[in-house]
Amino acid sequence: MHRIIKKKLQTNLKNIYNEVVSHKNMIVSFYKYFFVKDPKKLLNLITSKLEKKNILGRIYIAKEGINALISISDIQYRYFKHFFKRIDKKTKRMYMNYTIENKKIAFWNLKIKIKKQLVSSTINNFYFNRNNKGIYLNAFLVNKYFFDKDCIFLDMRNSYEYEIGHFSNAITLPAQTFREQLKKLPKYLKLHKHKKIVMYCTGGIRCEKSTALLKHHGFSNIYHIYGGILSYIKQVKKYNLPNYFKGKIFVFDARLSEKITNDILSKCITCDEYTDRTHINCFNNLCHRLFIQCRSCSIKLDSCCCLECKNIIHE
Ligand SMILES: [Zn+2]
Ligand SMILES: [Zn+2]
Repeated sequence: MHRIIKKKLQTNLKNIYNEVVSHKNMIVSFYKYFFVKDPKKLLNLITSKLEKKNILGRIYIAKEGINALISISDIQYRYFKHFFKRIDKKTKRMYMNYTIENKKIAFWNLKIKIKKQLVSSTINNFYFNRNNKGIYLNAFLVNKYFFDKDCIFLDMRNSYEYEIGHFSNAITLPAQTFREQLKKLPKYLKLHKHKKIVMYCTGGIRCEKSTALLKHHGFSNIYHIYGGILSYIKQVKKYNLPNYFKGKIFVFDARLSEKITNDILSKCITCDEYTDRTHINCFNNLCHRLFIQCRSCSIKLDSCCCLECKNIIHE
């Protein structure tokens, strides 16, 4: 064989080998609201493509769109990115967030399901109109509005997510579910109706609906962070901007949370001291409350949320 060709072949083989050996896993999340005429058909198409490809995670399909959180190897990423962008002309430009997975396993299986809605927004007199939502903000504008006195930031996630990390000026609307939050939202913001309202959540999917609800209620200066906190963090790193999101971010795979800055925002439920420990469930199964507790309080109370619960488990 010609020497040059032989050498080329060898390097090619070496590259392929390196690729196979050093491949990394990625966690990819994306969503898109668009009209899905036949969810079952889309489910079958996605299932046939993803089956036997060792892809784990969950994908929800509804008449109103698609929402996915999957773990995939970096070699497969490019192929599947194109596949998902081609399922409809509306998904062509959808934002896909990805992180390189650390050593922990993020998912145990692959679930593809048809759901009524991507995030539940069934409340009185509100029909979600995906064409009448808030204005998207990129990280540059988020940082500009951060210092605008005429602007308020509203965290649309659950309180346990807000607790461990948020924009330092953000307010939160305490509620048990997203639907309950939506119900309370217009009244809660009534006093701020004349202000600019910047809403955010983890990846942006909730704010599509919550900004639409406020517009439906006659609010006019409504904004949301494009791609949510995940995209904000990416842009801040890429363009070397100051980062105003402090603490940790809750993620919906087995990793539970990801550290963004070293700031500790969460406090121990028992002694009220700052602690960076992760959430636990009360050891009393009848209570099962989700909370944060410092190490010494956890030892004292046997990982229970209070003395009553500790007494119950020792009965
Ligand atoms: Zn404590
Ligand atoms: Zn308890």
